[in-house]
Amino acid sequence: MYVFTTKLKINSSIIIVALLPFFIFTCCTTVYAQNATPSGSLTTQSQKDPGANEALMKAIAAGDLEAVKKSVEKGADVNADFIQAGLGVIGSNNFKPVMKAASLGKAEILSYLIEKGADAGSKDSKGYSAWEYAAAGCHKAVLEILKAKKIEPAENSQKAIEELQLIKCKSEMDKILITLEMYDMDIGVKPTTTVGDLVKGKYLKQAGRCPLCPDTDYTIIINANGKPRYDVKCQKHGSMNELGGYNKK
Ligand SMILES: [Zn+2]
Repeated sequence: MYVFTTKLKINSSIIIVALLPFFIFTCCTTVYAQNATPSGSLTTQSQKDPGANEALMKAIAAGDLEAVKKSVEKGADVNADFIQAGLGVIGSNNFKPVMKAASLGKAEILSYLIEKGADAGSKDSKGYSAWEYAAAGCHKAVLEILKAKKIEPAENSQKAIEELQLIKCKSEMDKILITLEMYDMDIGVKPTTTVGDLVKGKYLKQAGRCPLCPDTDYTIIINANGKPRYDVKCQKHGSMNELGGYNKK
């Protein structure tokens, strides 16, 4: 019995390590890249403090307006370019602070960045602007700010929004699958286990929501043959298993 338990734990650890890159993607979707700045146009301000741009992105991700202000005061470039890491999913270059704020629905931060000279209509290498990033997350307050700035959706906006929503949904499913492994080791996953149980047990901070069907919980499915052991299912986007396998249905 002891041997069996140990083996199970080792297997689970390997799976967690294997899924780590996806998890990292969900946590920090941007990587600071000086080389991605067109024609070396990093401002003199950011050369004074190269870490400031990175600090700015971190502050936006945390939704911390005061920290955003501090990093801008320290010399962060509100139009800095970033590479959006694409580990197994689609990434882009020229990803901007306004896009990060828009994708997370941080309206106040977006307003501040615009006030400080950020170009709200700039596009990344995929042709997406803050508009597509906000629309993919159904962030109405952000869209209102962009509308007021006369920012228009891109020509292929709908396609872009669907693509971004799928990426977001997959990363939510990934997060649930990783915590499910830990939950299984400690408590054991049962056919009745829900995402709510993972939140209650503090394995997940909050139940992730699919941007397409935000009122529906993700479903956990235990596979009868045990390989892979579980799937997490979204009603619109299909399901994903703990080995990263994705099924559209
Ligand atoms: Zn979904």
